[in-house]
Amino acid sequence: METAEYLAGRGIRCIVVKRRPDIGGKLDPLARAILLRRLESLGVQVRTGVEVVRFETDEQGLTTVVARPWPYQEDASELRFPAETVIIGMGLRGDRSLADALTDQPDVYTIGDCVKPREVLDAVHEGFEVGRTV
Ligand SMILES: Cc1cc2nc3c(=O)[nH]c(=O)nc-3n(C[C@H](O)[C@H](O)[C@H](O)COP(=O)(O)OP(=O)(O)OC[C@H]3O[C@@H](n4cnc5c(N)ncnc54)[C@H](O)[C@@H]3O)c2cc1C
Repeated sequence: METAEYLAGRGIRCIVVKRRPDIGGKLDPLARAILLRRLESLGVQVRTGVEVVRFETDEQGLTTVVARPWPYQEDASELRFPAETVIIGMGLRGDRSLADALTDQPDVYTIGDCVKPREVLDAVHEGFEVGRTV
C-alpha cells in the first residue's frame, strides 16, 4: 500500500490487488484510516478478495494481470488488469546473511526484522533488551 501511495503521488495510476478481504490489518486503526483515505484521494483502486492467477504478455509486450475472485468460485469470470509494471509484494523474510557471517565473533546479537520481520516496536524492544545486557 505504501508503494502504491508513493507511485500514485508521482502521477502513476495504481491498482492494489489483494487476495484476503482485509487490507492494512497490521496497521494501527488510525494509520490505516489515514492511509486508505490518502489512497482514495490519489485515485488508487484497492481490489480485495481477488487472487492473481497468471500474467499474460501479448505480441506488443503489453502485460495483463489475470485474476479471479477469492475464495475460488466455480463460475466466476476472470478479471483482467492491463499493467505496464507489476509489483509483487508477497511477504517479508529476514536477511540473516551478515549475522551468519559473524557467528564466530563474540558479542553479536540479532534483533528486529533480522530475527523475523515484524513491527518497529519489536525491534526497539529487542534493541533495548540487548542494550541492557551488554
Ligand atoms: C513497507 C513497510 C511498511 C511498514 N510499516 C510499518 C508500520 O506502519 N508500523 C510498524 O510498526 N512497522 C512497520 N514496518 C516494519 C518496520 O519497518 C520494521 O519492523 C522495522 O523497521 C525493523 O527494524 P530493524 O532495525 O530490525 O530493521 P531496519 O529498520 O530494516 O534497519 C536495518 C538497517 O540495517 C541496514 N543494513 C542492512 N544490512 C547492512 C549491512 N550489511 N551493513 C550495514 N547496514 C546494513 C539497513 O540499511 C537498515 O538501515 C513496515 C515495513 C515495511 C517494509
